[in-house]
Amino acid sequence: MTTLKLNILNKNYKNLKKIYSDKIDSKNKIIVKYYKLNTKKPEICPFCKENHEHIHIHGYYSKCLKNSKIDNFTEVFNIKITRYLCTKCKKTFSDKFENQYQNYRITQNYNDQILEDFNKNTVLNDLKFKYKLPFPIIKSIFKNHITISNFNKIKELKSGFVEKLSIDEKKIGNKFYTFFIDLDKKQVIFYCEGRDSGTVKKFCDFYGKNFIKNIKTVSIDMAKSYNLGVSKYIPNAKIVNDKFHVSSNFYKNYVKKILENEIKKQKKSIKTMNKTPKTKKILMKFQKKH
Ligand SMILES: [Zn+2]
Repeated sequence: MTTLKLNILNKNYKNLKKIYSDKIDSKNKIIVKYYKLNTKKPEICPFCKENHEHIHIHGYYSKCLKNSKIDNFTEVFNIKITRYLCTKCKKTFSDKFENQYQNYRITQNYNDQILEDFNKNTVLNDLKFKYKLPFPIIKSIFKNHITISNFNKIKELKSGFVEKLSIDEKKIGNKFYTFFIDLDKKQVIFYCEGRDSGTVKKFCDFYGKNFIKNIKTVSIDMAKSYNLGVSKYIPNAKIVNDKFHVSSNFYKNYVKKILENEIKKQKKSIKTMNKTPKTKKILMKFQKKH
């Protein structure tokens, strides 16, 4: 299954020509595939626009990009890229591998795999470990996905109906996003910026009346804005405060306050203790030990 999928995906990289056999590092779970970027010598210099007579091969360099995840293995492409020199303007330039994702050391395919996973599982932190990428990159992929808005994928779901919906907010960077999740399929079916009742309206506008009519329950945290939005735009659905949200809200409102009060009390008592030189000495000794 996986090899078949990979072959199809690699077909998109028309310009890659295999140069060495694969290297498998089973200790670090990496498969390295060696390619050469097979492009023609440029017709003109991108800087001074002189013709090809002035352009010469100036050497090679290799670029390593993560391309896919196969079971626990990471497939890495080691791509040999040609560097050119223009003898007229003395500037160097090289071929571009078009399937690199932005300036990150990953391919477009890797990016697609992450997003596919993201649509099944919204926990960005898990993706960081699975794909061995720093969190800022995962966040950037996600943000980019939201702004480009991969609506085609979401629209496919329009044909089916969702009975159990869950609404949740997540903070990414400085912004809040609202997620709409099909609880039966555990899939994100819609998301947008913001966390007010207007986000529920956006979701309803997107899917249309027939779809909204079929939603039986909506699980939300105890946020007033979602409660307002759901009762206004999904009036037929029953609102459920799900267990996890109830407990986290309980923590925020009660446990945290109790703890904070307790810490304040302790700080006060330490301050009064500090006033006498004897207790100061004892405290110093205590702090040194711990
Ligand atoms: Zn030039």
